[in-house]
Amino acid sequence: MDTYGRQATDMRLSLTDKCNLRCTYCMPAEGLNWLQKDQVLSRAEIVRLVRIGVDLLGIRELRLTGGEPLVRADLLDIIRDIRANHSELPISMTTNALGLDRRAAALKDAGLTRINVSMDSLHPDTFAQLTRRPFLDRVLKGIEAAADAGLGLVKINAVLMRGINDSEAPDLVEWAVSRGFELRFIEQMPLDADHGWTRDGMVTAAEMRELVETQFVLSPDPRNRDGAPAERWEVRRRSAPDVVVGTVGIIASVTEPFCADCRRTRVTAEGKIMSCLFSREETDLRDLLRTGADDAAVARRWQEAMWAKPRAHGMDHTGLGAADFVQPDRSMSAIGG
Ligand code: SAM
Ligand code: SF4
Repeated sequence: MDTYGRQATDMRLSLTDKCNLRCTYCMPAEGLNWLQKDQVLSRAEIVRLVRIGVDLLGIRELRLTGGEPLVRADLLDIIRDIRANHSELPISMTTNALGLDRRAAALKDAGLTRINVSMDSLHPDTFAQLTRRPFLDRVLKGIEAAADAGLGLVKINAVLMRGINDSEAPDLVEWAVSRGFELRFIEQMPLDADHGWTRDGMVTAAEMRELVETQFVLSPDPRNRDGAPAERWEVRRRSAPDVVVGTVGIIASVTEPFCADCRRTRVTAEGKIMSCLFSREETDLRDLLRTGADDAAVARRWQEAMWAKPRAHGMDHTGLGAADFVQPDRSMSAIGG
């Protein structure tokens, strides 16, 4: 609970800061200075933190992220251990899907509930330009394997970048709805290690809707948004406007922020609590875990960190560079998006 009455029931847990892609809106071309192995939470520490979150602090949903969670060698064991403790907990994972084709079935068996795959383009060249790696075919194979393994509803995340992949918005929608995936467009946030984000350069949610509406009709999804970051829209083809062919989500963190309904608590790969993606405050739990603190002491420090969660991130009304918004030092990959 924080001072504004929000309850953080959704835990975003980063398993690693490492990644095998170099998306331009996230990482620099040369990568970052990765954490040393002993700086990263161990499997046992992760499993314990999740147990404390669920049993003592009311966590109801877990999302594994990174960096790229699939690069973590003990990923299956981590999921298996968490599942053994929490039979009903929804456990999802956000991934770039490299190597997912070989591991999707094992992830499902280990207890993973659902998967979000990031894929910004269906064109190999554009994909390579955005991620700085020529791996689109591998990502597509991974997505297919996830669907075959029953890791559905598969959600696809796409960050739209002006002049690079924004014109692909309707094609991405067509591709997703015809396969039964839920596509979510994400506004580019100022969380890139290169600090290349500009308010004028980013594609806004309003523009995203306009781009999609060149080929589809969008209408608000009547289902309750229920604290979800994505605003959902029902999709109808212009040629058959009576039939809903799927839904598309738009995550407008910059221009239409949802801070008032935020339910997230974030744990970085080295065990720091961030109450918000844009926090400049971090609260270390790893030292407690490694110095013999009991569960209640860990829970108390976590609770105190969340109590201080700011009301809002400040990007919406000020614009970057103005008044109270300062870009965090960490990139998205180093926080856990
Ligand atoms: N590597 C995994 C992946 O890409 O799905 C998980 C971690 S990644 C940091 C999580 C999500 O954050 C991805 O969907 C990615 O597109 C998104 N992301 C990264 N940097 C972003 C930025 N600057 N603005 C908006 N979304 C961003
Ligand atoms: Fe890696 Fe994900 Fe960041 Fe892309 S968005 S560089 S896949 S962590």
